[in-house]
Amino acid sequence: MNIADQIQQVRLNIQSCCLEYQRNSQEIRLLAVSKTYPLSQIQAAYEAGITEFGESYLQEALHKIKQCQQTAIQWHFIGPLQSNKTRTIAEHFHWVQSLDSEKNLIRLNDQRPLHLPKLQVCLQVNLFAETHKRGIGTDLLPDLLALARQMPNITLRGLMFIPPQQSELNQQIQQFREAAQIYHQYKDEFALDTLSMGMSNDFCAAISAGTTLIRIGQRIFGSREESSSEPAK
Ligand SMILES: *Cc1c(COP(=O)(O)O)cnc(C)c1O
Repeated sequence: MNIADQIQQVRLNIQSCCLEYQRNSQEIRLLAVSKTYPLSQIQAAYEAGITEFGESYLQEALHKIKQCQQTAIQWHFIGPLQSNKTRTIAEHFHWVQSLDSEKNLIRLNDQRPLHLPKLQVCLQVNLFAETHKRGIGTDLLPDLLALARQMPNITLRGLMFIPPQQSELNQQIQQFREAAQIYHQYKDEFALDTLSMGMSNDFCAAISAGTTLIRIGQRIFGSREESSSEPAK
């Protein structure tokens, strides 16, 4: 299967999930997660109509972003944020979805070059503490949202969730509903428009629960090596 075919298949899957769960497929953005895959595959996905790409590992991402000729691409940083890397991220990405601390929020804002559009930001929320330690706790979330909204070089867009892998559809749906509840609690107050949740193995459940942005890697590009198949921790 080539990449264009896989993308077509994912789009068809999105449409049938939308039909099943009465969602409008126009409301669901498809982010291609290209971490570990070469630039040639990004190029192929771009030619098949994908304009947003997600990367998790900064050095690898930087290499691809600098070589890539497609200025229409929006690059999303979705990996763990380290404060000594925020400057490079602020200089090269359009979006950061994995922001989870006040310190890095302030750094990204201060380091965003003024000639670039504002950095688009989702806060990563740790609602499912058992799987990973990344993400802000729901107790601290309102304060971080309030601060993010005040930052002049940042546009606050929404929340990102990475629930633990479940094989049962009903369990997947249950987790995503909990996440969606948090999102809807703050959506109006902070003018959020992006609920980022759902990956290759659970995006249909995420659609049923109200996602607006799904992050798909392996279903588009083929399976990753074992060593890099975990969402970065
Ligand atoms: C790797 C990754 C994805 C994509 O996972 P797939 O299983 O390849 O679809 C999505 N989100 C995050 C945060 C990731 O790290």
